Amino acid sequence: MVSLYGFNPACYIPTTVNNYLPSAVACAPPPSYFSSAYNTITSPFGSTYSTVRAMLQALVGLPFLSLLLIPTTGSWSTTVNFFFFYLTWYTLILSHPPLRVELIGSLAIRVVFYLLPSAAFFAFDFLFPSAAVSAKAQGSSGLPMKNASRSRSLQYLRIVGWSVGNVLLATLAQFSIEFLLTKVLLVHSALRVTTTLPTPFAIIIDLARGYIMREILTYVIHRYTLHESRSFVAKAHNSWYHSLEAPFPLSASYDHPLAYLLHNFIPTYAPAFLFRFHMLTYLMFLTIISLEETFAYSGYSTVPTNFILGGIARRTDDHLLHGDGNFGRLGLVDWVMNTTIGGSLIEDVGDEAEKHDVEGRAKRAGRKGLADARTKANGVFEGAKSRSSRRQRSDS
Ligand SMILES: [Zn+2]
Repeated sequence: MVSLYGFNPACYIPTTVNNYLPSAVACAPPPSYFSSAYNTITSPFGSTYSTVRAMLQALVGLPFLSLLLIPTTGSWSTTVNFFFFYLTWYTLILSHPPLRVELIGSLAIRVVFYLLPSAAFFAFDFLFPSAAVSAKAQGSSGLPMKNASRSRSLQYLRIVGWSVGNVLLATLAQFSIEFLLTKVLLVHSALRVTTTLPTPFAIIIDLARGYIMREILTYVIHRYTLHESRSFVAKAHNSWYHSLEAPFPLSASYDHPLAYLLHNFIPTYAPAFLFRFHMLTYLMFLTIISLEETFAYSGYSTVPTNFILGGIARRTDDHLLHGDGNFGRLGLVDWVMNTTIGGSLIEDVGDEAEKHDVEGRAKRAGRKGLADARTKANGVFEGAKSRSSRRQRSDS
């Protein structure tokens, strides 16, 4: 706008003459302070919005599964989907700076898969406590806002505020690392943001080792730094996170900011940094983690969870209440180190296998049927015996 103003010759003639010129050629009045301030403030949001929209289109355009199925199924729809996804991704990477794509993408995933569903669960608990209580594993203690006093409600809102703040803080930490690497040290970025796509095999390998490394790091940091040390951060973890009575939606990211960075951000970002994940792989990794946090902290016992999520939820509960075990997420390292409280991951797997053990169930049913038949036969036999003895008695 300023440059147009500068190049229009009508702006260099007296204002009285300018007033008689047709509006198409007349010098436009300079932009008001208000409109220039408005543009300065909104332009980052406008471009951010366009990045988010392109990013979500890219992610929604191709379900995760079809990306994995490409080499095995050659169906036309999958190929076409894949092609459109590739085009969207390619345009996105070429039209936006990589750092922005990474940060906006990560934040968008956290908002869509953690903050929004958790906020929806929280709102449901708050608005319909009597409907929610029947679905809660902890009964009414899983509903912190039920019949809460004004000061208590404010306290919970403060917790929610810190939870959201911590998610933003993690994004800020990610930005600082990438800024330091690419703008100060002038080396390559932590994540690979390229127009080429990772192969399905590379995605699976990265996700698997990322998850294992996250599990080990979470355990080590949580146990040795946040629990078995006398540091400031250990005290902060105890007085912040362990002051909660039960996990509730949105409390997954509640902790002292420093403890949150150590315990949540580092175990999530370190594997991606170390193995230099492709941007898309990192977004998938973050999606899995966000969904895990949403369901593990929802407090619902009837959510569509499998035994892994159900186990994570139960172990999270037990750690919060007792604090002397269940330091990991999956419970694998806890099982190895013998710090499990309650049922371990291995027992969960066994229980689940038993639940699906059709053959065993059939055998058990067969055995039960045989036992029933035997009791019935015994009953008939006993009945016949007593009848014959009664007859003998009446005969004599
Ligand atoms: Zn703890």
